[in-house]
Amino acid sequence: MLDALENRTALPPEIARRRTFAIISHPDAGKTTLTEKFLLFGGAIQMAGQVRAKGEARRTRSDFMQMEKDRGISVSASAMSFDYKQFRFNLVDTPGHSDFSEDTYRTLTAVDAAIMVIDGAKGVESQTRKLFEVCRLRDLPILTFCNKMDRESRDTFEIIDEIQENLAIDVTPASWPIGTGRDFIGCYDILRDRLELIDRADRNRVAESIEINGLSDPKLKQHVPAALLEKLQEELEMARELLPPLDPKALLEGTLTPIWFGSAINSFGVRELMDGIATYGPVPQIQKAQPREILPEEPKVSGFVFKVQANMDPKHRDRVAFVRLASGHFERGMKLLHVRSKKPMTITNPVMFLAADRELAEEAWAGDIIGIPNHGQLRIGDTLTEGEELRVTGIPSFAPELLQTARAGDPLKAKHLEKALMQFAEEGAAKVFKPDIGSGFIVGVVGALQFEVLASRIELEYGLPVRFEPSQFTSARWVSGDRLAVEKFVNANKQHIAHDNDGDIVYLTRLQWDIDRVVRDYPDVKLTATKEMM
Ligand code: GDP
Repeated sequence: MLDALENRTALPPEIARRRTFAIISHPDAGKTTLTEKFLLFGGAIQMAGQVRAKGEARRTRSDFMQMEKDRGISVSASAMSFDYKQFRFNLVDTPGHSDFSEDTYRTLTAVDAAIMVIDGAKGVESQTRKLFEVCRLRDLPILTFCNKMDRESRDTFEIIDEIQENLAIDVTPASWPIGTGRDFIGCYDILRDRLELIDRADRNRVAESIEINGLSDPKLKQHVPAALLEKLQEELEMARELLPPLDPKALLEGTLTPIWFGSAINSFGVRELMDGIATYGPVPQIQKAQPREILPEEPKVSGFVFKVQANMDPKHRDRVAFVRLASGHFERGMKLLHVRSKKPMTITNPVMFLAADRELAEEAWAGDIIGIPNHGQLRIGDTLTEGEELRVTGIPSFAPELLQTARAGDPLKAKHLEKALMQFAEEGAAKVFKPDIGSGFIVGVVGALQFEVLASRIELEYGLPVRFEPSQFTSARWVSGDRLAVEKFVNANKQHIAHDNDGDIVYLTRLQWDIDRVVRDYPDVKLTATKEMM
C-alpha cells in the first residue's frame, strides 16, 4: 500500500478544491447560526434568517416531529454545497438532537474534517465531548470555533486549557480575542498578522480588517485601547511560549486543533474560519475499504451510502440514499455496480443539495455528497463502484441503549408492522430484533425520543397504530466468533437470542453480569456493542 501512496498522482483540481466537513457542537452553541453565515458568505443565501427558522424548530418536541414529518426540510439540509472563493464546500449536517447520536456518528464517516463549535462561556460540554470522541476514533482533523465572544466569556487560556485537558488534543490559537463581553472589540489574526474589528451595528457585515506588522506595530495603538493592548501583547507572548504553532501535519492527523474566536451572530470571525477550512481543512481523503483502500484521484467512481432517508413523500415510499463519493468523476446516467447485490444500477436522477434547493446533479467529484432516490436497494454501508468489488469499511452500527417491544395496535396488522419496522431498520432509524423464541419485535434505539418519532412515523406513513412497551431486556450485543462455539452458545441461551434485520445473531439481556458471564464461559464467542455495516 505504501508504494501506491508514494506514487500518488496529484489530485485533479476539481477534487483538490473540495472541502467536506461537518459541524459538531453541544445544542445552543451556535451551529445553526454559523451554518447560516457560511451559506451567506458562500453566496448560497441572500439574507441571514433563512436557516434560522429551522434551527428554532428543533427546540420543541412537537415542532421537531412536525419537521420529521415534513421530510423536505430536513433532507435539503442533510448536505449543503456552496462555493467559497475558489473552493467548493460540502457541509454535511449532523442532527442536532442528542437522541440521534447514531445518525450523527455515521454522518461523520462521510466527512474529511469537523468544525467543533463551543460556547465561549461554557467551554467543552457533554455533547461536544461525545462527538469529539467519535471524531477521534477516525483521527478526523478538527478545527475549533469558540463562539459568542461578544458575551462575557471565559479567559482565553482557560478555554484552551479546558480543550487540551478534556479532549486530550493540542490547541493552537489561530486568532486571539481582544477584550470580552461588552468590551470585546475583535481579534488579532495570528496566522496573518491582522487586526479584525467587530462591527456590532451591522450583523451581516464583515469585520474591518487592518494589516499589522507584528505586535509592536504602532497601528495597533490607534485601534486598541491601551489597557487591552497591553493585555493582548502579554497574552500573545505567553501563548507563543506555551502553545504549539500550527503544524498542518498534526492537524491532519487529528492531534492538534487550531482555534478561532468569534461571534457567529455578528458574522465575526466566520470568514477567518472559512479561510482556515480552505487552507488547512483537508482535501478529500483516502477511504478505507476491503480489499484495498480507495484513493480520491482514482479515475473510476466509487462511493458509499452513509445515510438513508425513507418516505420523503409518503405516497410514493421513495427513499434517498446519501452517497459520499470516494473517488473519481461522477456523471449523471452512469451505470454503477451495487457491490452487495452484485447488480448494476443506472443512476439517472441523482440530486445534490445546493443550499436550500435540491438540484439534479449532472456531475460530482470525489468528496461530494449526492442523493440517490431508490426503492430500498441501497442501504447504509453499501458501496457503489464502476465494477470492482470494493467494500468501504468503518461505518459503525451501535448497540442500542434502550429496548422496547413493539406491538401493532391492531393484532391483524402484525405483518404490516413487521414490514414497517424492517424499513426503518434499513434506514438506520432503529434496530429491530426478532427473538428466536416468542412473538413480536424488540426495537432498540439510542435515545428515548426516537420511540416517539418512530411511532408517529409508522402511524403517518403506514397508517398503523403501534404501541411500544417495556421489554424484559435492556442490552443487546452482536454475537460473533468461532462457528461451533457460537452454535453451542446459541443453543444454550435460546431465551436470549434474537436476529437483527440483517439476520445477524444478537444476544439480549438485562444484566451486565450476564455479559461478563458469557465472556468468561465462552472464550471463543465475541460479544460486541457495535457492528460494522456491510
Ligand atoms: P445551535 O443549537 O447550536 O444550532 O445554536 P443556534 O445557532 O440556534 O444558537 C443558539 C442561540 O445562541 C440563539 O439564540 C442564537 O441567536 C445565539 N447565538 C448564536 N451565536 C451567537 C453569538 O455569536 N453571540 C451571541 N450573543 N449569541 C449567539
